[in-house]
Amino acid sequence: MAASMREMREQAREELGWEKRDPDRYNIDAIVRDAWINGNGSAETWKAAVEKHFKRFMVGDWVRLTVETEDGFTEHHYGPIENFRKPGGNHYRREVATPYAAFVHPEHTRSHVVPLADVVEEIKDFEIITEWSEVHEGGPEHNYGVYHCMGAHGPYPPPAKVMVIHKLSGRKRRFCDDCNTPDYRSRFADEALMYQRNLKSTILELRADPTLITGPSANARQVWDNSPADQYRDFADAFPWLVPAPAAELYQQWKETQSAPVAS
Ligand SMILES: [Zn+2]
Repeated sequence: MAASMREMREQAREELGWEKRDPDRYNIDAIVRDAWINGNGSAETWKAAVEKHFKRFMVGDWVRLTVETEDGFTEHHYGPIENFRKPGGNHYRREVATPYAAFVHPEHTRSHVVPLADVVEEIKDFEIITEWSEVHEGGPEHNYGVYHCMGAHGPYPPPAKVMVIHKLSGRKRRFCDDCNTPDYRSRFADEALMYQRNLKSTILELRADPTLITGPSANARQVWDNSPADQYRDFADAFPWLVPAPAAELYQQWKETQSAPVAS
């Protein structure tokens, strides 16, 4: 006797579980139809159906939007998908298999309707290190070499379990497992955005004239404690990801000439 639809659904969810996939992220009915009802039930047919009917985005998923500002800055903003929208921006009346756009309301910009083709899974912007020896490398001596979690714990934070690296800035932050959430990771990424906003004038100056970064040091002229060029270089050392490419290149060359052996 042929299996009922209900049995096939259960079977499909079980198979996905064995494959370490989350059944809720798949269109189960469509997989059953393509793999077992219309399809021949082979491993290849199953695999193709599973890949085809994966829901890359669901309501509640945290995503990153890329926003170009009027003064020529690229900003990354994060938030959960609140609902899906049609190409015109209208709501769907019923659930659809392949929605067009997401409505997201990030904390530091206006809300946006963004085509799903243009949003990125939040987690893709981070590298997560879980190896204890790596997470606690160089840890504070007064705490037995163990870093604590930088989430919100009050006076007694637990030990960190992971190190989160914000790929864009290279900044690192240690969290416990409870704090390694899209919300905390996004707030961490927002810090890099705030640096970019606060240092806007410096970035624009270096965009307009990259050679500012190779100007004379205080040592050479003894006029300033810290020459304007020294300040640009301090900025570049502290926020390397914010330095415009031409200035970064000039600074690299400048550093090489500084460290070159002096001819005798
Ligand atoms: Zn924590």
